[in-house]
Amino acid sequence: MTSTQTQRKTPTPDAALAKLGLTTDLDLLHHYPKQHQVIHRRKLADLQPGETVITMGRVVRHSIKDAKGGQLIVQTWVIRDKTGRHRLVCTQFHKARLPYTSAQWRQQQGQTYAQGQLVTVTGPVHHDSYVGGLTIKGDVVPIRPKSISTIPKRVLNPVYRLSKGLDMQTLQGRIREALQRTPLHDPIPAKFRQRHHLMELSEALAHIHFPPDDGQLEAARRRLVFDEFFYLQMALLLRRGQVPQRVKPQNLSRSLVERFKANLPFALTGAQRCTLSQILDDLTQTFPMNRLVQGDVGSGKTVVAVAACLAVIEQGHQAALMVPTETLAQQHYAKVKAWLEPLGLKTALLTGHTSTKERRILLSELWLGRIHLMVGTHALSSTAVQYADLGLVVIDEQHRFGVKQRNALLKKGPNPHLLSLTATPIPRTLALAMHQDMDVSLIDELPPGRLPIVTQVLTQDQSHQIHRLLDSQLAQGFQAYVVLPLVKDTDNSEMRSVETALDTYQRAFPEYQVGMLHGQMSSAAQTEALEAFRTGQTDILIATSVIEVGVDVPNATVMVVEQAERFGLAQLHQLRGRVGRSDHPSYCILVDGAETAASAERLQVLVQHQDGFTIAEADLKLRGAGDVLGHKQAGVPKFALADLMRDQALLKLAHTAARSAVNQGARLKGWNRMVTEAQRREHLEKALRHTHLN
Ligand code: ADP
Ligand code: MG
Repeated sequence: MTSTQTQRKTPTPDAALAKLGLTTDLDLLHHYPKQHQVIHRRKLADLQPGETVITMGRVVRHSIKDAKGGQLIVQTWVIRDKTGRHRLVCTQFHKARLPYTSAQWRQQQGQTYAQGQLVTVTGPVHHDSYVGGLTIKGDVVPIRPKSISTIPKRVLNPVYRLSKGLDMQTLQGRIREALQRTPLHDPIPAKFRQRHHLMELSEALAHIHFPPDDGQLEAARRRLVFDEFFYLQMALLLRRGQVPQRVKPQNLSRSLVERFKANLPFALTGAQRCTLSQILDDLTQTFPMNRLVQGDVGSGKTVVAVAACLAVIEQGHQAALMVPTETLAQQHYAKVKAWLEPLGLKTALLTGHTSTKERRILLSELWLGRIHLMVGTHALSSTAVQYADLGLVVIDEQHRFGVKQRNALLKKGPNPHLLSLTATPIPRTLALAMHQDMDVSLIDELPPGRLPIVTQVLTQDQSHQIHRLLDSQLAQGFQAYVVLPLVKDTDNSEMRSVETALDTYQRAFPEYQVGMLHGQMSSAAQTEALEAFRTGQTDILIATSVIEVGVDVPNATVMVVEQAERFGLAQLHQLRGRVGRSDHPSYCILVDGAETAASAERLQVLVQHQDGFTIAEADLKLRGAGDVLGHKQAGVPKFALADLMRDQALLKLAHTAARSAVNQGARLKGWNRMVTEAQRREHLEKALRHTHLN
């Protein structure tokens, strides 16, 4: 191999650093260690195999050998302590590196490690039966006798992400240099830091890399986590920009809302009433509402949203209710139409499956203002759709929509109000990280008489129990859902499909009607299948997770999910929410197709908890934030250090501080264009110059 080849293959340390995105000193300082390796200072007499240690002794013997055809150089030392009783064999491997010739290298090393030289050795201790004692593989560094006392008892050695051509020691060295070179002014005022026990910035950066002890490391981490949150909170707050204005509402009589409530066959729960009054209050303001209603499956969010629509319609505007699936759109439409017709109001349905002719008529009616409430899928936000005066946008199951779709619909009116509904509760912590520009209402109460859903995890070979349960429930006139991960069987998947299950269940329950529902069926067929189930013509509905959201058939009392391990916890909770919608006991059977410890642990969460928030928090713990929210809600940034579960208190602190800074006029204009850490820091410093943080 020629030297040019070698050079081309292994990048220089600088090139390797650039590859990691580390070009400036600040980049290096913010390249935090993955972890810290604990190195104990030990006497030769006290060494234990398995520990990583720093120890010292005098060189008794030193040898250098070539290995692997000259590509590797192996050095061996034997060192001895003062008593002479304890010896240790140390080995170190090097790549033979140009420009030194092997001979030059030998000569230089030989001088460095002359007999009697005092050295420290750092590395893991092993027992080696060939040597017949303890050995250590690691770095041997000559030291002066005086410096022994400066070696701490316990060193936290930073371990970094590396790339080819960059070794740990080089990177550590570069970071040390950067720390010495880079003067840092802390943008967070000293008073604020003292009050909240936040370490000064340059100290925190030094200690996050080379902490003197665990306490200092934790303090450094705390400060830097605060920074991560604080920047994010500033950016989120400032993204709101100028608050748009609406014309002051004229008619606040709310008689439509009152008539609607009076027509309902039930009274609103306390939580529904409370949420509705918060919403009605928002609607009297001159700036648009932006409210998220979180309420568990079956808590009755739809009624509240429709009441809000009526309040806006009464003020002379239109409302739009956007839902994620065709099925749900149809179901909502049927329900809402029945509620609004007696009040003399017109509702219409628009989805991707609306016929061209119907769509044309509908769009002109909408544009003329003859339709008061428009229900539909994301078709509602498509370009051709124009409203006469869109005053309120309701987004049901908001976690299923992207920001783009939501904004497209919002653009269709003069600063319309926005009401988002979700039953996939965003853990409170995440809500604060992402949604601080939203007000949040909770419907934390189910309609009266609802019983907890009996939930059980079964293995595949216990499935006869499912049949027994279905038999007894169907015989009492109740209905059941069976959910599977796939529509059709495929060769290369172990997932079970709706079509196969349809067959199986038809044969197992010949005296009952079995229906099927999935997203690949035509819109008409889906409507028909759902209608047949709703009206009791079919007893068992075999489906994919299309029924996850919204489907509301109170007579259904059994939910069976096959291969439940393939679904997210929040999704399973949603599926379970399809039953338990009446005052009859309901059952949810989760069939564990994997039967691993992990799947068992996850599914047990549903057995133990009925509350969506607890389930969401558990899901967050098991899977991490990004996965829980999925790509649609990729609003959660990746943090280098922060952990949303662990650092909740700091998040709150950062949130309050950022709010106070922004209220005092701090602006981060152009923040999103700031690329480097240095630019951001400088920017933040300017922004905070005239503010007092408390
Ligand atoms: P979700 O919050 O899951 O969207 P829905 O709005 O679909 O829940 O409501 C679930 C069911 O409960 C519906 O059949 C609805 O009519 C009914 N419901 C809503 N509010 C009440 C209430 N206060 N009392 C009794 N039933 C209610
Ligand atoms: Mg709903």
